[in-house]
Amino acid sequence: MLILMQPAATPDQVAEVLALLDSAGIRAHVHEAPDSLSIVAPHASQALKADRIEPMAGVRRVVSLTSPYKLASADAAAGRTVVDVRGTRIGGPDLALVGGPCGVESREQLFTVARYVAEAGVKLLRAGAFKPRTSPYAFQGLGVEGLRLLEEARREFDLGIVTEATEVETFDDVERSADMVQIGARNMQNFALLRRAGRSEKPVLLKRGPAATLEEWLYAAEYVLSEGNRQVVLCERGIRTWSDHARNTLDISVVPAAKALTHLPVMVDPSHATGRRDLVIPCALAGVAVGADGLLVETHCHPEKALSDGPQALLPSDFIRLVAQAGAVHRALQGPSLTGLWM
Ligand code: PEP
Ligand code: MN
Repeated sequence: MLILMQPAATPDQVAEVLALLDSAGIRAHVHEAPDSLSIVAPHASQALKADRIEPMAGVRRVVSLTSPYKLASADAAAGRTVVDVRGTRIGGPDLALVGGPCGVESREQLFTVARYVAEAGVKLLRAGAFKPRTSPYAFQGLGVEGLRLLEEARREFDLGIVTEATEVETFDDVERSADMVQIGARNMQNFALLRRAGRSEKPVLLKRGPAATLEEWLYAAEYVLSEGNRQVVLCERGIRTWSDHARNTLDISVVPAAKALTHLPVMVDPSHATGRRDLVIPCALAGVAVGADGLLVETHCHPEKALSDGPQALLPSDFIRLVAQAGAVHRALQGPSLTGLWM
């Protein structure tokens, strides 16, 4: 059940609806969009009828939720969700950009990249301290030492920090240091980790699994949402297909398809989607063109020396070029004529 409150509903009126739901043993979440407030109660209709709630003061309308992923579905919110990460709003009118190296390797490497990321006007720095690697012998990240360096970079360059949590055991450490916690593709169906992220106060960036359908991805988001964390951003990062010219296949059409089914913001990661530096910018721009709310892009000051994902890391000059071009594509889409064409 989705309870849409009137724009002028008072906090007391909201509290009264919540108290009624609570007295019926129903778990509910308040959802605040920029100009609307709604209450989502996934299983309320079994215990309470809409006509018990609809006459209450401050209530505009009660809508039944029919989608299987109740909290992630577009009809579970009065508007689109905007996730605020240290002042960068993901899902609003602006294109959100996140950049950084695949992993934190050293203070010098991190600070060099952080400096040009910040100078390019990007406000969110992403780098892994805990790295999920295909081979157990590959660089696994600096761990807690990497988190300390990320905290230093935040202070030094005034950047928000996005970094990955790979397991429940180290989630607390990552959560303390991060402004946004990434759940990587390989962990998209690690349900214990998703539930832990759902109990976090920090926004979550949920990557799509390399073999996950859109529906499975939304169910994964549902795990986070159902624990109470409403700040979830989806990130398409390529899926495994028989196409072997690139590391993965960027599923461009999933962006508008996901945005039709969910109120959550959707970003695109062209770096892991392609694995090839020469394909990153074209695919990033394609992501913006199909309506992505933001981009997550890997960049390194010396990609040839990178300890992970060097072949896909943009050189500093290319990263700066991408920021300008992505902004131009985004602005073009905001124009009245183009918007009218594809909406
Ligand atoms: C990463 O972001 O560096 C990463 C390992 O991504 P993914 O989970 O998409 O493979
Ligand atoms: Mn990487």
